[in-house]
Amino acid sequence: MSKLLQDKVIFLTGGGQGIGRECALAYAREGAQVVVADLDGAAADETIALLDGGGLAVECDVGDNASVEEAVHQALNHYARLDAVHNNAGIANPSLPLHETSEIEWDDLHRVNLKSVYLTTRHAIAALQATKGCILNTASMVGQIGQRNHAAYVSTKGAMIALTKAMALDYADAGIRVNAICPAGVWTPMLREWAQEQPNPAGIEQYLDQIHPLGSCPEGDVIADAAAFLLSDRARFITGSILPVSGGAELGYRR
Ligand code: NAD
Repeated sequence: MSKLLQDKVIFLTGGGQGIGRECALAYAREGAQVVVADLDGAAADETIALLDGGGLAVECDVGDNASVEEAVHQALNHYARLDAVHNNAGIANPSLPLHETSEIEWDDLHRVNLKSVYLTTRHAIAALQATKGCILNTASMVGQIGQRNHAAYVSTKGAMIALTKAMALDYADAGIRVNAICPAGVWTPMLREWAQEQPNPAGIEQYLDQIHPLGSCPEGDVIADAAAFLLSDRARFITGSILPVSGGAELGYRR
């Protein structure tokens, strides 16, 4: 039986660790060739070394126009096609209310988490039009429900959700699907760093287990499985969807 993503070429940002690395592993297991574009070139190399069948590591700052243009160029030089772009790279600092967030922090968050979607789209859209490919954005449940002390980050994820719907409409005529995935908590280096900044880091593990009605804070594999589905032809009639992969974290009334 052919695999879910057989022979697809997927341009994945932020695949050097965390959720992105789990996605790279899942995509390769399902038969895809993965281009891992990450600010940390060595981490991207490490991810590629873990993949059966290989892939391509590219050092890239997703918030920088020239860097994204060059990364997409390298991917197309190597594979001569692109079937999907997964915008996953992101940063989460600082964990602060809006008025305590510096202008540099605000700009950096929006550059890396949001402008990056504009840049990859600008440079990859022609290749995606040629394959009737798709785009997937790693948003966050907090972009839908908000979060205390994380306003600038929440702003980037809320905007990414709105952008996903606008892009789904704009590119539907070209047969390009655009979706977003919303994790709640996922154990990754990013979440561990955030946990350390909280008032009670020792209690955070229990808190993170409790916010997920399905019982625990997951690892990135749960996101990767859903992402692989959304990039596959099994999801061929799904576009503009904002898929929670959150163990139900957003459900019900909260005290
Ligand atoms: P992570 O920090 O563990 O990994 C992020 C990766 O992105 C790293 O490899 C890093 O080098 C790369 N990166 C950072 N800035 C970059 C840039 N400018 N250019 C290219 N690459 C860059 O993070 P994670 O937890 O795996 O998060 C991945 C995505 O999932 C992010 O968009 C994040 O907002 C989102 N998310 C994470 C959680 C969670 O609980 N971990 C929850 C919801 C959403």
